[in-house]
This record gives sequence, structure tokens and C-alpha cells, in this order.
Amino acid sequence: MPSLRFSGGIALCAALCVGCGVTSPASDGQPDDEITMASEPTMLTYVDPADVEGLAPQTISGDSRQPHLHLNYPTLPFTKALNERLHRDMAKAAADYTAHTTTDRFPAPEYNVDWQLSAVASDVVGVRLRTGEFGGVRWANSTQTLWYDRTAGRVFESAQLVNNLNLLSALVKQHLDRDPAVDADVVHPDPLLFDSLNFNSRGDLVVEFDDYQVAPGSMGRIAAAIPRKDADALLTSFGRRARHAVERAIPATVPQIVPMSSSERSSSGAQRLGSANNRPGRVDCTVANCVALTFDDGPGPYTGRVLDALRHERATFFTVGANAAARPDLLDRMRDEGHEVANHTWSHRDLTTMAANRVFDQLSRTQSLIKDATGQTPTLARAPYGATDPNVTEVAKELGLCLVQWNVDPMDWQSDNPSAIVSATLSKTRRNSIVLLHDTNPATADALPAIVAGLAARGFTLVTVPELYAPAGMTPGQTYDAGGRASVSRRGQPLP
Ligand code: ZN
Repeated sequence: MPSLRFSGGIALCAALCVGCGVTSPASDGQPDDEITMASEPTMLTYVDPADVEGLAPQTISGDSRQPHLHLNYPTLPFTKALNERLHRDMAKAAADYTAHTTTDRFPAPEYNVDWQLSAVASDVVGVRLRTGEFGGVRWANSTQTLWYDRTAGRVFESAQLVNNLNLLSALVKQHLDRDPAVDADVVHPDPLLFDSLNFNSRGDLVVEFDDYQVAPGSMGRIAAAIPRKDADALLTSFGRRARHAVERAIPATVPQIVPMSSSERSSSGAQRLGSANNRPGRVDCTVANCVALTFDDGPGPYTGRVLDALRHERATFFTVGANAAARPDLLDRMRDEGHEVANHTWSHRDLTTMAANRVFDQLSRTQSLIKDATGQTPTLARAPYGATDPNVTEVAKELGLCLVQWNVDPMDWQSDNPSAIVSATLSKTRRNSIVLLHDTNPATADALPAIVAGLAARGFTLVTVPELYAPAGMTPGQTYDAGGRASVSRRGQPLP
């Protein structure tokens, strides 16, 4: 049985604790809204993705172009119909958003999906998807939980866990009515309103609402926990199996989140830079024709092939924490094979849309995860979409992180043509280039052997980013594109 992981976030509870009489501080509408109070009945637990054999996180992205788009979702070897459903839904959501969103606005509109596994049992799997949309002022978050019957090979919507939506609506109304800020009257027996049904570890039925569905967006996450005994009569037979699947994975202990003090942070940052960024590379880039290949957004299903192609080379991987949590073995392999493992935030949202504490959360959670997987704390980060501002650089400095941009963008993420990726990369790359590639794109993995051979034929030596800047070293809080330039605009364009 896979072990459980509590949803992350550093005590930023944005849940309205209907049912226990506790109302948390209002959300500021920003992304990391997960639930953290152990006594909170709407708190959900999740299966640790690292324990699930064959889990492959999938990514649809649109780096460095507007509208900002990043959709992450899981696929499993034993959930064929669910995988197909997720592929279809995510591709459609990405296409619809791109088609219907004006791209010349500032700040850039953004669409982001991340996920958790509610249950992975021998008969039932539950996947919770969290969608965030940034319209220019604040984030609006929504959740959907899909359930999968492994015996029948069939996907169930959340509303199909219950046999009586009228009764569920009535029960939820009773709970929501306790808070005057919530408009319980809008609750009605619509399956779309009940698209995220889940269970807490006691077996209570947890009903999650999207931002703005039943309360002002500033309230953050709204959820109600229907006590187990009241929910009993509501659940279908599959609903009861789903509940059982969640209950069978009760965590032994509640993990504690211990914030790092600022003095710990600055001293560990200084130590790391001394040992990692200033280490002598194999190659002296003041003499050799060095190039740093960088791979963003993984690890994912194609990362193994990318690593195969780089077996005799070195590169830098900017990993997304949510993906890395599912495949820590690939981070291990990156480190073992001499690559630099770096931080690309937890869920790939534009950091300039967030307050400093959220930026800290996005970066520090990923730091911890990479440290756990590789034994080494990263010294490099890349901001999603290359979007930085003084807030972001300040937090990066606090965490001992140098921010790395790029100056060669072959736009591989939007290509399914390996030879086009090869020629775009080879024609643009110069000495000391930092090249932006994506190990989430299968065509990039296909292109890589020819890219490596082509760069070698042109006399280039592939190095990690810290090697590119050795022996001078890199400084936390500074931004690097190539050749040591340290100033960029919000979207990663070099400033004049
Ligand atoms: Zn990215």
C-alpha cells in the first residue's frame, strides 16, 4: 500500500472549515491554497506518488509565450480509460484556453493544472486535479476529482459516487449555512457543482467548491465535510469502494512543517555556493567553447531517453517539484550521471503573480524535495516563463538560489518534428549559450542524439550552468542568461 503525503503549503490554510466552526484566514486568491490544519475535517490526504509503480506525470506547456500555459496530470499503467480521458480533457482545455485568450495583455493570462492522487488501491484510483486561472489580478482555483474503477475499467465522475444529489445538496447547505460569508442558496443538485467529492481519513465525505462558486473569491477554498454516518446512505456501492480505498491508506503520523529561520537559510546558501558553484569543472570555459544545455519542466516519461542521449555529457535539469515528487529515481540518476539538478518551482505558476510567501513556498518545497532525492540542495532556479521581479530575486537570494535564464530558445516545446528542433538548436547556438529545451517533449528526446553530435562536430563542449560560470562563480539572487548578464524583465527578455 503506498504511503500517504499531506498536501503541501506552509501553514497557508485557505480553507473554510465548515463543520468544525473554524474559519481560516481569507485567501489572497493566490495559488498555494492547500490545507494544512491537522484537525480540519475537510483536509485531504494523498498517496505519495513516489510509491506508485509506473506513474508517469504528463505535461502540456507553452513556455515563454503568451498565454502562459502549463498543465500537469498523471497517467498510470493500469488506468487506460482514465489516461485517455485525462489526455483528451487536458488537450482540449489547453486548446480552448489558447484560442479564447487574448495574448497581448499584461500581466500575461495564465492557465495551470496540477494534481494529487487521492487513492491508489487494487480496485480504485482517485485523481484530484487543481486548475488555476490567472486573469491579470488574482488567481481563481477550481478542483475536480475523477475516480476510476479498476475492475470495470471505467471512469466515474465525482457526482457518481452518490445516489441522491438532492439529499447531498440539502446536507451541504446545512453545513454551509453556518457561515454568513457563504451563499448556501446557490447550492443545487447539479453534477457539475459536485465535481470534486473526496474523503478524509475518517471516511467523512468532503465536498469541495471552486472559487466564486458559493462565496466571494477572497474566501479561498470552500469545502464541507459531511460526517461519515450521514454520508453512508448517500454513497453508491462504487462510492463506498472509493471511500474504502482512501481509508486503507491512513497515514501513521502527520508530517510537521518546520519553517527554516532566515539565519539558517543564509548560512546554508553560502555554504552551498562555496562547495557547488565554485567547484572546478572538467572544462575551463574561459578557454573551451562551452555550451550549457538546460531541460525544463520534467522529470517525465521522456526524461530517461534524454538522459540516455546525454550519457557522456553534462547538462542542467530545471525540475518541477510536482513531477519530481513522482519520479525521484530520475533525479537520482541525473545526479549520478553528473548533471546539475535545479529548481523550476513546485507547480509552474508565474512567480510574479504571487506574494513573497507564496514564492518562497513554491521554491522551498522544491528545494526540500530535490535535497531528499539527491542529497544535494540546489543552487540554481529558473522562474516559469522566465518571469522574475524584485520580489522573486529577493526570495531566491534568501534561499541561496541563482536565477538562470537562457539566450537560445529553439521553441522545442511546440514542435513534434525532431529535425526542426535539431536545426533550430544548432543554428542558434554560440559559445557560452544557455539553451532552453524541455525533457517533457518526446520530439526533444528524439532530437537530442543529433543535437549532441552536431554540437560536438562544431567544437562545442557541453557543461552544466555552474561550470559555464566557473571559476568566477555565481551569486544567489543574481539572474544569469549567458555571459554573466544579470538583468531581465518580467518575461525574461534581456533589458536594454
Ligand atoms: Zn517551464
